[in-house]
Amino acid sequence: MIKKNVSLQTFNTFGVKVAAKLFAQAENEDQVRNVIQSDEFRKHDNLILGGGSNVLFTKDFDGIVLRNHIQGVEVIEETPSSVVVRVGGGVVWHEFVLYCIEHGWNGVENLSLIPGSVGASPMQNIGAYGVEVETVFHELEAIHLQTGEIHYFNGSDCNFGYRDSIFKNKLKGEYLISRVTFQLSKDNHFNISYGAIEQELEQMGVKSLSARAVSNAVIAIRQSKLPDPKEIGNSGSFFKNPIVDQAIYNKIKGQFPEVVAYSAGEGKMKLAAGWLIDQAGWKGVTRGNYGVHKKQALVLVNYGGAKGKEIYNLSEEILNSIHEKFGVSLEREVNIY
Ligand code: FAD
Ligand code: NAP
Repeated sequence: MIKKNVSLQTFNTFGVKVAAKLFAQAENEDQVRNVIQSDEFRKHDNLILGGGSNVLFTKDFDGIVLRNHIQGVEVIEETPSSVVVRVGGGVVWHEFVLYCIEHGWNGVENLSLIPGSVGASPMQNIGAYGVEVETVFHELEAIHLQTGEIHYFNGSDCNFGYRDSIFKNKLKGEYLISRVTFQLSKDNHFNISYGAIEQELEQMGVKSLSARAVSNAVIAIRQSKLPDPKEIGNSGSFFKNPIVDQAIYNKIKGQFPEVVAYSAGEGKMKLAAGWLIDQAGWKGVTRGNYGVHKKQALVLVNYGGAKGKEIYNLSEEILNSIHEKFGVSLEREVNIY
């Protein structure tokens, strides 16, 4: 079951050509336990991988990669107005979204077309178009990598934040998230105020709002702006939008009146990192076979054959340049290995 020297090129959406010293894929909890209790696992560094859409490998992984492929969607509880579903961590996120839409369960339509697995969705509290996974999250099951025990986490245990959770911080590297339970609504309340959704729905001639219509609008907007990893290697937004104190925002606004920013709670502002990077002249910059995407400055791309280290170094240059121009420190959203 544990294989040696496996290429990870098809297991990361950047398409970076690296290999793992050891590699295993788990279809269920027993298989996870078999791997984590093996000598190979205990003696090596480990990395839990889902769809590989939020990672950048800068070198071969000199340890064991355990790919979570646990499947299944089961209804735990159903009322006339809501449903609670337990989903395998290895289910593809977008397929889960489509499953919900087919069954008339609402709440995840704004999160359409986000690549990756259900098991990774709580890791950075995935979000798009004004909705975060936290909104529909009920509970998760995670296998402790040292003991093999299953531990349960509710929403407050996960300590969700902006593209953040306890699994990216205090509990980093300690668990494999095996299943996630979501609570979805059967009421027709949709969040369409964000970005271009409303405009897209109008253009599509949608008269009666539905989760499918919102999902189709989100898909259309995303396809028009974002590179498809099947065609151009990337891991989505490379950087998080920085949250800064109002005073810092005021200073930047004084110098750059057109700065794009949104309120992020009392005394805090969220700056659009894409705008900062664009203003610093990085949008569309190409270095041979990698660079900054021409339509979306937040996305670094591999046009084919680039090394992870080269992409990482480019991200470092961008970080430094944004700090120099705006005095703001960007943080990488993508996990670097
Ligand atoms: P991976 O890349 O495999 O792993 C990411 C991290 O989570 C790693 O540190 C890994 O060790 C850990 N991990 C993965 N699975 C588990 C598990 N089961 N248990 C424990 N740890 C685990 N993100 C957004 O939030 N919003 C977006 O709109 C969005 N758009 C994107 C668009 C594109 C084109 C791309 C390529 C990416 C986008 N992303 C977005 C980022 C990415 O899709 C999400 O972060 C996604 O949740 C990653 O899932 P994954 O299974 O691919 O995780
Ligand atoms: P956009 O709509 O052009 O907006 C630019 C930025 O402004 C976004 O980052 C967004 O922050 C923020 N924003 C826009 N409208 C807002 C509002 N009403 N209230 C608060 N913040 C607002 O962004 P985009 O690049 O095309 O992406 C659209 C959505 O998809 C965003 O939610 C983005 O996060 C998500 N997305 C994420 C990734 C990823 O890898 N993480 C990749 C592609 C797209 P937020 O990012 O906080 O929403």
